Amino acid sequence: MMIRMMICKEITKLMSRRLDTSLTLQERLALHMHIAMCGACRECNKQFELLHLTGHEYQNLILDTDTASGSSDTPEA
Ligand SMILES: [Zn+2]
Repeated sequence: MMIRMMICKEITKLMSRRLDTSLTLQERLALHMHIAMCGACRECNKQFELLHLTGHEYQNLILDTDTASGSSDTPEA
């Protein structure tokens, strides 16, 4: 599976969306990969975590890399 490199603007959008809804596996991987390489987004993500106190979701993001839902590709507006 090819994960395309996302730009910071897209990543921050994912970060905020992640707090309201769950991301697809691909989105989570893209987010995780970007954060691993981009210090600015890493800091930004920390701020999101602090603001919303969703530490458990962050754990899921890191640990839960293997629960591909596969066929459930529900489009979002
Ligand atoms: Zn970035």
